[in-house]
Amino acid sequence: MASSNVHHLHFVLFPLMAQGHSIPMLYIAKLLVNQAAPLSITIQITILTTPQNASHLQISHYPQIHIALLHPSLPISHKTFDQLTSLNQSLSFFSSIAHDFHSQALSLCQSLSPKPSCIISDICLPWTLHIASHIGVPWISFSGGSCFANVVMTNVMTAFGSGSGSENIDESIEVFGLEHRIEFTTKAQLPIQGVLSGGMMKFLEQIGEAEKKAYGMIVNSFEELEGSYVTHLKKKVRGNRVWCVGPVSSCNKHYVDKAQRGKGSTKEGQDNNNNNDKVMKWLDLQDPNSVLYVCLGSLHNLKTPQLIELGLGLESSKRPFIWVVRASNKLQKWIEEENFEERIKTRGLVIRDWAPQLLILSHFAIGGFLTHCGWNSVLEAISAGLPMLTWPLFSDQFLNEKLVADVLDIAVKVGAKNPVMKMKEEEQEDQKEEEEEEEEGIIIEVKKEDVREGIERVMGKGDEAEERRKKAREFGVMANNAWEEGGSSQLNIRLLIDDIMKQTKIST
Ligand code: UDP
Repeated sequence: MASSNVHHLHFVLFPLMAQGHSIPMLYIAKLLVNQAAPLSITIQITILTTPQNASHLQISHYPQIHIALLHPSLPISHKTFDQLTSLNQSLSFFSSIAHDFHSQALSLCQSLSPKPSCIISDICLPWTLHIASHIGVPWISFSGGSCFANVVMTNVMTAFGSGSGSENIDESIEVFGLEHRIEFTTKAQLPIQGVLSGGMMKFLEQIGEAEKKAYGMIVNSFEELEGSYVTHLKKKVRGNRVWCVGPVSSCNKHYVDKAQRGKGSTKEGQDNNNNNDKVMKWLDLQDPNSVLYVCLGSLHNLKTPQLIELGLGLESSKRPFIWVVRASNKLQKWIEEENFEERIKTRGLVIRDWAPQLLILSHFAIGGFLTHCGWNSVLEAISAGLPMLTWPLFSDQFLNEKLVADVLDIAVKVGAKNPVMKMKEEEQEDQKEEEEEEEEGIIIEVKKEDVREGIERVMGKGDEAEERRKKAREFGVMANNAWEEGGSSQLNIRLLIDDIMKQTKIST
């Protein structure tokens, strides 16, 4: 391996401006750099992103990684994905950043020295393919999701494309041709609404076109986890070039790396997280495997009444928990008015805005994770050998739930059936929304009893829970082995490097 006489590689990375996409992309950069010494080559990385997103990327200790800034002119291009307020905004977000950054990024790439060897781009930035073609380097896509989700969605979209899929999103759907029987209770659980309404169709076509032309695909997963779904995905990608290099969070070996990630690496995040020590000290006092960690990702979009029900369910479980809540005035008001923190203080901890998730998950006191099933969170739970209680919200999260609950048997579903389409609560809309909520009468889909029962199934005694815990631990061992010397993910990243070295040699 790495036998070519090219000894220097320069990877250019385009992350999507969203925590769940930028964090793993940064880890891919670090993992690539870490391979340089063992392969006796040098690897340089340039990450192209906006100032706002760059503030979430912690690159100290990695002098080989540089950030080149893309300067937004349109208001929406200044934002990161978690600052959007509705899914409808995502389309204008994607088109604005394409419009704003295409030529800037091209000039930057043309001026880079040494010349880039390859571009690795988030799949949501398909226009970067043109940059790769222009400068004559391979373009590799990164979707941030699992092989399973990718394969299931390909089958679903093929069914729709061939006209064999009914467009009634309230109907159930079975996905054929896979190793396991995969059925969703409603089509609404799949990320296809935008497609059916036509809104996202053009954008998805661009993504599809880019995927077809991609030199290969990097996936944050490991082969032992997704078996036949990796094989399926390879059939779809040119030259079988699918490199599973996960869990990419395994590049975080030290306390500080685990503590300062994403928002937690900004000044604001660190101020918020002054309680890192407090959280860890609190965990130190708990019994092993006794605490449930509850976090619904970086976007968080449940309605306040549903969040309150979650809080009440946690309280009634009588088990220790850490609950991460995002800024929402109405929820904060409830927490204060109901004296919630005081009521649960002997067993529970509420963390506001951003938690040091990796640190928490790797603590001996944590015994389970109530997660929204964002793929990063799922993999982080798997790496920590933890069983999950799943509460998918939208996007690929119902697919990830299906994988961990029905295929891998390491999770219990809390019972969420319908996707939540709003991204976050907007302060100025609070009043209006409150009125709407009263008028419409919010349907509480997951009751506090569901939460309590789910927690009991995950954290309690009994053969079923023990078996699930055992499986979760086994996957945890596999996840860690994937990045040991000779492990599958380490091998895959070296194969990727080797491949790019050969390409670089051909083109020089
Ligand atoms: N995260 C964190 N602290 C938080 C919330 C999220 O460290 O309070 C991290 C989490 O560890 C994960 C990422 O943010 O790496 C969220 O990505 P995921 O795919 O799970 O969900 P998303 O936020 O994209 O929906």
